[in-house]
Amino acid sequence: MSQAVYLDYAATTPVDPRVVAAMTACLGPDANFGNPASRSHLYGWLAEEAVENARRQVADALNADSREIVWTSGATEANNLAIKGVLEQKGGGHIITSVTEHKAVLDPCAWLERKGLATVTWLTPGADGRIDPADVGAALRDDTVLVSIMHANNETGVINDIAAIGALCREHGALFHTDAAQSAGKLPLDVRALPVDLVSLCAHKIYGPKGVGALYVRRHPDIRVASQIHGGGHERNMRSGTLPTHQIVGLGEALALAMADRDAEQARLGALRDRLWDHLRALPGVHLNGGEAPRLAGHLNVAFEGVDGEMLLTALTEAAVSTGSACTSASLEPSYVLKAMGLSDALAQSALRFSVGRFTDEAGIDRAGEDVVGVVTRLRDAARSRA
Ligand SMILES: *Cc1c(COP(=O)(O)O)cnc(C)c1O
Repeated sequence: MSQAVYLDYAATTPVDPRVVAAMTACLGPDANFGNPASRSHLYGWLAEEAVENARRQVADALNADSREIVWTSGATEANNLAIKGVLEQKGGGHIITSVTEHKAVLDPCAWLERKGLATVTWLTPGADGRIDPADVGAALRDDTVLVSIMHANNETGVINDIAAIGALCREHGALFHTDAAQSAGKLPLDVRALPVDLVSLCAHKIYGPKGVGALYVRRHPDIRVASQIHGGGHERNMRSGTLPTHQIVGLGEALALAMADRDAEQARLGALRDRLWDHLRALPGVHLNGGEAPRLAGHLNVAFEGVDGEMLLTALTEAAVSTGSACTSASLEPSYVLKAMGLSDALAQSALRFSVGRFTDEAGIDRAGEDVVGVVTRLRDAARSRA
């Protein structure tokens, strides 16, 4: 295992030891291992109690009702359920989304479009990475059934004005879905105050386990999404499958822990993120992507003029970072998010995403920052001497 400083918390986080303890209590012969759907014995009742306790933890974090939470295998499935589920329920229609969404929103929308089950308007962001609510307003049509705009972007951390976008949707009678995989437990997200109808959540970005998430589905008015996984009719017929007690307990505990010191922790992360930027900004030719917009405290997306991002990644020994989203980092294409913000191919290809989190400290920031500055300088010198 490399000892590089982990600065890729936007891709995934380690499970918090307190979450591990809560999950372990649901595994093993002496633990709470029963099937939450078993109604005939104490094993089932105790498992159901653990699941319902977690449901309340997740609902509390959103100021929602427990009955509005549907468990899924992650934010990818929650997005698929929201988007395909609404379009199926409505019998098709028009969707508005943006080109800077996560693939787990882009691909379901593109699939519906390809199958002829929906028409899609793809909005582009401003240079700051934000979607202008006025663009959503202008794109709304009589047949618009769903608007899906993410709360905070996974590559840049840029935060969209979901209150303004949701208000326009509500005025127009379209449902509003937001992918909050990056923002849950970090930004205020009160579904009684915000006009959002569907919210996707994910555990592994907030120190919970991979493979579990949830979809918030508003009950007043009673919104229905057509099930995309058919089976025993679990989760009020919206998502079948035996509930994974340990995973669900992990999500509930992780979100409750994040909420407990949310604002103080975001302030601490913001200071660490700014400390890293102070290292990097000493270099000439660096650009802070999304720097003009409100951003998540943990994100820092920086382009280094004249440097190839992949080469930079490979040369770094003290920092574990990424060129963008983990889901697309297998491809050598420049980031579609940065290109949509107007960056040239070359500049987009020179960008790295740094993301700090719960286990980041100042010493780690300094070690990583010095490494990046040294490597960028060395790569640029080498390029100049070749020229
Ligand atoms: C990580 C992420 C997802 C995917 O979540 P999984 O739980 O890994 O399926 C979706 N959207 C955004 C914005 C993300 O950051």
